[in-house]
Amino acid sequence: MFGFVHICQRHQQIFSDAVARAGCTDPDDIAKVRAKAFAWFSAKYPMLVLEHYSNGTCVGCTYEKTNFDRTLIYDAIHAIVARIRAEASSSIS
Ligand SMILES: [Zn+2]
Repeated sequence: MFGFVHICQRHQQIFSDAVARAGCTDPDDIAKVRAKAFAWFSAKYPMLVLEHYSNGTCVGCTYEKTNFDRTLIYDAIHAIVARIRAEASSSIS
């Protein structure tokens, strides 16, 4: 689902629900949100992502164990969806 590597089913579902709640349902846009959200997460939590790659653990599960604040992630997803929409509407004209 969505091309995630090493993300458990539960966290893939949490991500897809969050993206849908932000108003994004187009598969191409969801793929863009996923890439941008992961880039944002990697910049903010590089050690978690490093651990995720070296151990093959779910980055969402690791995050929950360490520094759990879902609001931050939901806010980032909302901001990313808004930016993708703004880019899409400016490229139509
Ligand atoms: Zn997980």
